[in-house]
Amino acid sequence: MLNALSTGRAAPTIETVVVQPTPFCNINCRYCYLPDRNQKAKMELSVITTLFSKIFASGWSADQLTVIWHAGEPLVLPVSYYETALRAIEALRPPEVAVRHAIQTNGMLISPEWCALFKQWDVGVGVSIDGPQALHDANRVTRSGLGTFAQTIAGLRLLQREKVPFHVISVLSAESLQSPEAMLDFYLAEGVEDICFNVEESEGDHVSGLFAAADTPRRFREFLSRFWTLARQSGQVRFIREIDDMLERIFRPESCDMGNAQVEPFGMLNVACDGSVSSFSPELLGLKNAAYNDFIVGNILTDSLEAMLGGEAMTAMTRDIAAGVELCRQSCEYFSVCGGGAPVNKLSENGGFSSGATSFCKLTEMIPADLALAAFEQLERTMPAPEIGAARFAEGK
Ligand code: SF4
Repeated sequence: MLNALSTGRAAPTIETVVVQPTPFCNINCRYCYLPDRNQKAKMELSVITTLFSKIFASGWSADQLTVIWHAGEPLVLPVSYYETALRAIEALRPPEVAVRHAIQTNGMLISPEWCALFKQWDVGVGVSIDGPQALHDANRVTRSGLGTFAQTIAGLRLLQREKVPFHVISVLSAESLQSPEAMLDFYLAEGVEDICFNVEESEGDHVSGLFAAADTPRRFREFLSRFWTLARQSGQVRFIREIDDMLERIFRPESCDMGNAQVEPFGMLNVACDGSVSSFSPELLGLKNAAYNDFIVGNILTDSLEAMLGGEAMTAMTRDIAAGVELCRQSCEYFSVCGGGAPVNKLSENGGFSSGATSFCKLTEMIPADLALAAFEQLERTMPAPEIGAARFAEGK
C-alpha cells in the first residue's frame, strides 16, 4: 500500500469511481449542466487500465467498489468498448475487492447486445425518463428540439423483455410536481418498480427557475407525500429512493455512522476521459473555478493518487468542504441523516463550499426526513400499544 500518511492525512476509502467514457451526449436536455456534451472524445483503454491499476495498488479501495460510467451518454460508444474495458478491470481486480459496474443512460440506444452485456456483467442500469410523453418531451430533446420519449421507452421496454433489472431517474419539473397521479400511472403502465426523483436543480451554467420559486418545497412535499401514498396503495412499486433510502438512514443502528462519500477526499474519485481526476461531487468534473484549479487534482496518467491527495487543489477543497460539514453538524437537526450534503450544490447555490443549507438539501434531505418521521408518528398513534408487559404481569411472570 502507498503511504498516504506522508501527506499528513488518514488513508482515504474510495467507495465510488465515476468514469467518463466520453463527454458526448446524443441529445440536448434543456436542463443539462454537462459543459462538454458536444465533444466526441473517448477515454482510451490505457487511461482505464492506469486508473484501476493505481486504485487497486493503493489499497484505498472499499471492499465493495462501485464504478459508474457516466458524465455523458455512455452508450454512444460501442458494446465492444465496454467488453474490453470491463475485462481489463476484472483482470486487475484483487480478489478481496468486489466491483459493481453501473451505467446511467438515456436509454435510446439500448439494443439486445447491450442487454447481453448488462446481464453478463450484472451491470446496474439507470434509465433517465421524466414520466409520460408530454412531461418527458418538454425537456429531454434532441439538438434539433425533438422529443426523445419514443426511443427511450423502446429501450426501457427492451430491458424488460430481456429481463435486465433497472431503475429510472425522473427529473421533476414544475409541471410534473403537479401530477403525482399521472407520474404513478405511467410507471405502473410500464411496469417500472424502482424509482428515483431529481428536482430540476441549478448546477454549472444551468439555472433552475424551479429552485428559485419560493413555493417549490411545499409543492415537492405535497408531490412526494401523495406519490408515496398512492404507490404503496398500488402494491406495485418496490422502491422510491427519496423515501426508502431515508427510512434506512433514519432507522439504522446507532452504531452505524452516516457516511457521505461526497464530502470525503477520494470518497468519490471522478475521472474525465482525458484522465483528469476530480473528487467530491461528480458534477464538479468539467466545471470551471479559478480558486480550485477547475476542481482538477491531477491526471491519472502522470500523477500518483498520493500526490493528488496532498496537492493544492485537493487541500483547499478538503478544507472548505470540511468547514461546510462542520457548519452543518453544528446548526442542522438533519445532520445525522444527511452527513453534510452535496458540495456542488453548496457552491452553486451559496457561492462557497464552506456553507450550510441549500434548496437542494431541503428537497432531498429535510422534506423526505419530515415525511418519513410524520408517517412513523402516525403509525405509532394508530397502532395499539403492545400488551406483552401487561399479559406477563397478569400471569405473574
Ligand atoms: S440537510 Fe442541509 S443543512 Fe442539514 S446537514 Fe444536510 S446539507 Fe447541511
